[in-house]
Amino acid sequence: MPDPQSRLDLFIDRMVSQRACLDHAIAQTSTMSGPVFELGLGNGRTYHHMVQYIQNRPVYVFERAVASHPDSTPPEDLVILGDVRETLPAALERFGATASLIHADLGGHNRDKNDAFARLVSPLIEPLLAEGGLMVSSDRMYFENLTEIPLPEHAVDGRCFIYRR
Ligand code: SAM
Repeated sequence: MPDPQSRLDLFIDRMVSQRACLDHAIAQTSTMSGPVFELGLGNGRTYHHMVQYIQNRPVYVFERAVASHPDSTPPEDLVILGDVRETLPAALERFGATASLIHADLGGHNRDKNDAFARLVSPLIEPLLAEGGLMVSSDRMYFENLTEIPLPEHAVDGRCFIYRR
């Protein structure tokens, strides 16, 4: 049986969900002052969206190699360059549990690889989130003490996940 959804359908669902979840999480954490972490810059589309709507908090970007659109390239002092398997533990020493919002979009095209990576980085991400902070991810995460919360309107189940401490 072919997948009932085309790759275009899946892509559109992912993009619509990403925006809906980010907008929701930005609004829900707007009174918090802790930093925002963008894990995976890529082309910089979600980074560009976040800095457009987040005015009161610094947005740090974790990326192994910056190759974003020139309009979406973060200032150097807000880039945490390197593999997240190393930079997330270092960030815990630097920031502690202060992040108001963490967005992760680190995956590629292989679902099984994305899932394995999500399992690996979940314990590295979890301790960075402040009390009341939200974590938005394109992949299901494996947290011990964060609670998955319902998706906002327009987000599609399974295409985006939101967790709260
Ligand atoms: N959200 C981005 C956007 O809207 O343009 C797309 C992000 S793209 C799907 C994933 C990014 O995560 C890539 O730029 C890749 O280099 C980065 N990435 C993947 N694994 C990483 C790792 N272990 N450490 C640091 N960055 C990583």
